[in-house]
Amino acid sequence: MIRRGAYVSIHTSPLAQPGAGDAGGMNVYVDQLARTMAGRGVDVDVYTRPGDGVHRVVEVMPGYRVITIPSGPGTRAVAEDDLADLVGEFAERMVKFMAADDVVYDLVHSHYWLSGWVGALLQEMTGVPLAISFHTLGRVKEATRRVDDPPPSLLRIAAEVEVIARAGCVVASTPAEAGELIEHYAADPERLCVSPPGVNHDIFFPGSKSAARESLGIAQGPLVLYVGRIQPLKGLDLGIEAFAEVAGSLPSAQMLIVGGPSGDLGEAEVAMLRSMVAEAGLSDRVTFAGTLPHSSVADAYRAADVLIVPSRSESFGMVAAEAQSCGLPVVAARVGGLAYAVDDGISGTLISGWDPGDYAKALLGILNDPLEAGRLSAGAVAHAERFSWQQTANRMLELYQGITGT
Ligand code: UDP
Repeated sequence: MIRRGAYVSIHTSPLAQPGAGDAGGMNVYVDQLARTMAGRGVDVDVYTRPGDGVHRVVEVMPGYRVITIPSGPGTRAVAEDDLADLVGEFAERMVKFMAADDVVYDLVHSHYWLSGWVGALLQEMTGVPLAISFHTLGRVKEATRRVDDPPPSLLRIAAEVEVIARAGCVVASTPAEAGELIEHYAADPERLCVSPPGVNHDIFFPGSKSAARESLGIAQGPLVLYVGRIQPLKGLDLGIEAFAEVAGSLPSAQMLIVGGPSGDLGEAEVAMLRSMVAEAGLSDRVTFAGTLPHSSVADAYRAADVLIVPSRSESFGMVAAEAQSCGLPVVAARVGGLAYAVDDGISGTLISGWDPGDYAKALLGILNDPLEAGRLSAGAVAHAERFSWQQTANRMLELYQGITGT
């Protein structure tokens, strides 16, 4: 077993609140995996770029530190592609810190393409083995993006290709992502490994719907929930169109939207969605709750009757796993990892294509039929049991052993 690993997450900190801006499932993934590894006796240092330009070493728990490495201008307000200019400086400063701290890592595990690039440089400079998890892939996004969502940069694609060629292990969240890595990047299957994310079952567990509604101030009536960052890729426009159809046949139905704007188009997307809601005459039935901490997100899952995940692409879809762990059935797009995260017909419904009517039909099938809702709720809890951070860590330790020999 490795003794010490460096995780690189240059563009976003595992300690950031997920659900808006740059922070989402990947932050949760890095944080939860680091905690679980530390609990197993593997020391993990997560390297990230500070928002305020200040170098800090934060001990989150014994064996898990978050180390901020300033690079470029002091603030985090650097566009993603401009961060690419800082990758070399970041890697060099990391190596200096490692020398000053007298720390040697058995491996580097990078998260997202920018950090993969940092990892490739570290591998070149120090010989340390590299594992990479992309979390999202430029070419997959390109294949599924909405027309007004700009394409990923050529720089990103080129970096992904290079990192895939150099890493000892490319970690996919699901078999579907492994397939995408082969299809879109001709990744070497010998160096591809699959390790699904987990769910924190201490936070996401079934509970009283009425108590959850009381704590969030939600009235009685059928409740459709969306949780996640808001940007075109997440397909919330489709979700609202589907809800409008549901609202037409169920006068007391409501929709709760948890999460905030993310990415360059996030603010414009939220404004566009709000006007869609207003034009449909649904302003009093659709609530934009903004970003909530995990404890309140868990209450939202417990308060709702169904989760909608209409993403255009999704490497896993952690919200689907969390919701199911709380006993909430999921209606999701049949894309990427969602087809793995949701057990179609058992824990929810997967929808092919982008017809809001298909989503509305699936939502109504659950909202109008308590027996069916109960069956899917039980199936959701059972299906979510397969996702745990302990299992993710087990698999990851095997993968690390494969590339380090320890
Ligand atoms: N999340 C949160 N608060 C919010 C909205 C989302 O804590 O207001 C969390 C959510 O619980 C999940 C993560 O953000 O853990 C989103 O992960 P997912 O894989 O669904 O999407 P990603 O952000 O990776 O695209």
